[in-house]
Amino acid sequence: MLDVLIIGAGPIGIACALEAKKNNLNYIAVEKGALVNSLYNYPSNMTFFSTSEKLEIDEIPFISNNSKPTKQEALEYYRRVATSNQLNINLFEEVIEVVKKSDYHYQIVTNKQTYNTKNLIVSTGFYDIPNPLNIPGEDLPKVSHYYRDPHYYSMQKLVVVGASNSSVDAALETYRKGADVTMIVRGEQIGERVKYWVRPDIINRIKEGSIKAYFNAELNQIFEDKVTFKDENGKIQTLENDFVLALTGYQPNFSFLEKLGIEINKQQKYIPTYNEETMETNQKGIYLAGVICGGLETHKWFIENSIIHAEKIIKAIKS
Ligand SMILES: Cc1cc2nc3c(=O)[nH]c(=O)nc-3n(C[C@H](O)[C@H](O)[C@H](O)COP(=O)(O)OP(=O)(O)OC[C@H]3O[C@@H](n4cnc5c(N)ncnc54)[C@H](O)[C@@H]3O)c2cc1C
Repeated sequence: MLDVLIIGAGPIGIACALEAKKNNLNYIAVEKGALVNSLYNYPSNMTFFSTSEKLEIDEIPFISNNSKPTKQEALEYYRRVATSNQLNINLFEEVIEVVKKSDYHYQIVTNKQTYNTKNLIVSTGFYDIPNPLNIPGEDLPKVSHYYRDPHYYSMQKLVVVGASNSSVDAALETYRKGADVTMIVRGEQIGERVKYWVRPDIINRIKEGSIKAYFNAELNQIFEDKVTFKDENGKIQTLENDFVLALTGYQPNFSFLEKLGIEINKQQKYIPTYNEETMETNQKGIYLAGVICGGLETHKWFIENSIIHAEKIIKAIKS
């Protein structure tokens, strides 16, 4: 019987594994994809908004060329934390089902094997389920909820939906690789959380007309060769179009949490129930860590401020 099984080896799952090891617990982390799978799937040229020391686990130095690390540097860092500490992490193994045998005894079924554990940490993040647009044409192959690389969109007519960090980075990068970019934005301006050193760039590109943007606007249908959207006056407009990047955010897997018997406050942004001191949920022996703690408020918890969850949980398990 394991002392603790960790679902997900993102930065916070790795922090939990390291803390469990330091406390001599019998633990394993199970990850459905590659190590730090969400980060691996982030845009190729992304730069973190945090400085590297803020992303450190257990004060293990994170050295980056500039103050804000790149995706490649972060992959390198978290891999070195996992390998240098010989953490028990099983990759490409997905947790399919959790059966409660009793308080502090859970059976975990993956696509490869079955485990028994006294405690379970759910650090499954939020990057697997995109917020849908719920409009006709969304399932066309030209539509993606993930942005990887600008070259693909070169010399193409691209619509970017949204005005958050991801949308702005995608709009600027693709414009600079020769895409004809139009942003469709539901709000009245570029998001206020957009990185302070990027925001003036996008605002000026829009002002000078290099990137077109429609604010207070909503995409309402996607066709093979065009899109239609409602502009700020409620008028339906049509744009010729090759590709759509719908970067409208992501959400945690709430049905997985519900299957575990974890209470979710649907009136309050789907925030799951947990004790802020111990991170234990209403299910004895099941703990939450990382971005998943914020429910639909996926900006509330990020790497910087949720690394601390690892220490809280392992302390609670030990006591
Ligand atoms: C473009 C971008 C830039 C960002 N920049 C910053 C920044 O500068 N600073 C910062 O602090 N935060 C930043 N964030 C947020 C940060 O990346 C997330 O908050 C962070 O990844 C949360 O870590 P996590 O371990 O909780 O979740 P994740 O990193 O999402 O890890 C969860 C893991 O669980 C795995 N998993 C899910 N379901 C299962 C299952 N059933 N079985 C097994 N494994 C499963 C997933 O594959 C994934 O690897 C950024 C996010 C984005 C999208």
